[in-house]
Amino acid sequence: MNEPHNCAPENAAKFADWIQNRGGVAVWRSLNMANPGASWSGPALKEDGTPSGKPTWQAEEKPSRIITSLREVAVTSGRAVKTFRITLQNGDGMSITLTPGSSRTLRKHLDDVGESAWYEFGGFDGRDCTIFVPDAIVSLDQYLCLSCLKSPHVAGHDGLCAACWTDKAIG
Ligand SMILES: [Zn+2]
Repeated sequence: MNEPHNCAPENAAKFADWIQNRGGVAVWRSLNMANPGASWSGPALKEDGTPSGKPTWQAEEKPSRIITSLREVAVTSGRAVKTFRITLQNGDGMSITLTPGSSRTLRKHLDDVGESAWYEFGGFDGRDCTIFVPDAIVSLDQYLCLSCLKSPHVAGHDGLCAACWTDKAIG
């Protein structure tokens, strides 16, 4: 059994579509030494049925893995544990980076929360930094509606989403 491939809730329907209609989810690893841990996911086949090319110049020529089962995808939803303001500065070229002080603050918060933590920037100006921890992890086949495979199912609705549940109830 392969390690489950992690997927954010907002990508769940897209991954299910690729597995059902586009030959699977292809995962490309990075060959860019400056970005070693990165990976990219995409449909294994293009609309016309030929193999997809690599998604970015940074990726290896061929996918390292093609996922063809919903069970091999783990949908990980996050729970926000803390939010704080960060300060940005101009970095090299066009990039914008955290100030050294904000970097230290972020690093400290991540260390406090533990190694499973991740962060996202948001808020009206993109300067609210929120730290998340994994909340629930379920495989894709358990996460999505059994009928349409497009929306998350609702607890207590026989594995169906609200729309399919309503359709069934009305008959
Ligand atoms: Zn449904």
